[in-house]
Amino acid sequence: MLIDNRVTGRTKVLGLIGNPVEHSLSPQLHNTILGILKLDYVYIPMKVEKSELESAVKGIKALNFKGFNITAPHKKHIMEYLDEVSKEALLIGAVNTVKNTDGRLVGYNTDGEGFLRSFKEEAGVGFQDKKILIIGAGGAARSIAVKIAMEGAKAITIVNRTPENAREIADVINNNIKAIVQCCSSQTCKMQDIVGESDYIINTTSIGMHPDVGFSPLDSQIKFDSNQVVYDAIYSPLKTKLLLAAEKSGCKIVNGLGMLFYQGINALEIWMGLKFSDELVMNVYDSFKEISK
Ligand code: NAP
Repeated sequence: MLIDNRVTGRTKVLGLIGNPVEHSLSPQLHNTILGILKLDYVYIPMKVEKSELESAVKGIKALNFKGFNITAPHKKHIMEYLDEVSKEALLIGAVNTVKNTDGRLVGYNTDGEGFLRSFKEEAGVGFQDKKILIIGAGGAARSIAVKIAMEGAKAITIVNRTPENAREIADVINNNIKAIVQCCSSQTCKMQDIVGESDYIINTTSIGMHPDVGFSPLDSQIKFDSNQVVYDAIYSPLKTKLLLAAEKSGCKIVNGLGMLFYQGINALEIWMGLKFSDELVMNVYDSFKEISK
C-alpha cells in the first residue's frame, strides 16, 4: 500500500470560516494551487456558528494557522477580532482574507482585486476615465464599486431595487475616494439612457443566477452598443440571460468565474507574500474551470 505523503508533520494549515461552507469551491481551488506550486500547506473548510466566531479566531491563532478566508455570515463581524484591517476592506466594510504573522491578524478584502484582475484579463481594458453602470448594491457591488473608484473611473451609476443600499455605497465612495458616484432606484430611473451613456455595464444582483436562469436585471427592450463591455458577477450559469443578450449585440462579455478565481489567487499571494507568474496562474485557471463545471 502507498503511504499518503500530502500531509506530514511539517505541513502548515490554511482554511475557510463560514456557515455554511459545504458549497464552497475554495478548498478545491486552494489545494489545487498549493499542490501545483508544491507548497507544503493544506486548506480546510470550517463551519463556525456566529456565537463561536471569537473562540474560532482565538483557536486559529493558538493553532498557528498561516491564514484563513471568511465567508458569509462572518465577513463583517470578523473585523472585531483582528489587529489591523486594510483601507480597502474598511471601505468595503467586509474582510474575506486574514493573514496571521506571528499571532498578529491582518484583514483584507480580495473580491475587488479578483474582479479587477478578471475584468482586465478577459475584457482587455481598464477603468481610467470610464463611465460605469453597476446594477445591484449588495456585498459584490460594494467591493467592485470601491475598486473601480480607486482605479480612476470617471463616473459610476449604481441602480438598485432598494435605493437606500445604493446610496450607502455612493456615500462611502464619494466621501472617502472621489465624488463620482450617483445612484437611483431601478423602479424609477431611465434605464436605457443610463445604459446608453455607460462604457461598461456590471450586474452584481443575483437575478439570472441558477436556477432562475430565465431572468435578467435589464428589460429585454434595452439596447446595447457593440463597444460596451457587459460583466455579470454570476458564474452559474456561465452565460446569463443578460450576457446572452449583450453578446447578441456584439458586446464583449465577461462572467464571474474569473472574479471567484482571482480573489482566491490574491488571498494566496497575501498569505505567501509573493506574486505568482502569469503563466502559472493561467495554467491553474484552466484546471479551475474544469473543477467548477
Ligand atoms: P447580496 O449582498 O445579497 O446583494 C444582492 C443584490 O441583488 C442586492 O442589490 C439586491 O437588491 C439584488 N437583488 C436580489 N434579488 C433581487 C430581485 N429579485 N430583484 C431585484 N434586485 C435583487 O449578494 P452579493 O454577495 O452581493 O451577491 C450578488 C451576486 O453576485 C450573486 O449572484 C453572487 O453569486 C455573485 N457574486 C459573485 C462573486 C464572484 O466571485 N464571482 C462574488 C460575490 C458575489 P436589494 O438591495 O434591493 O435587496
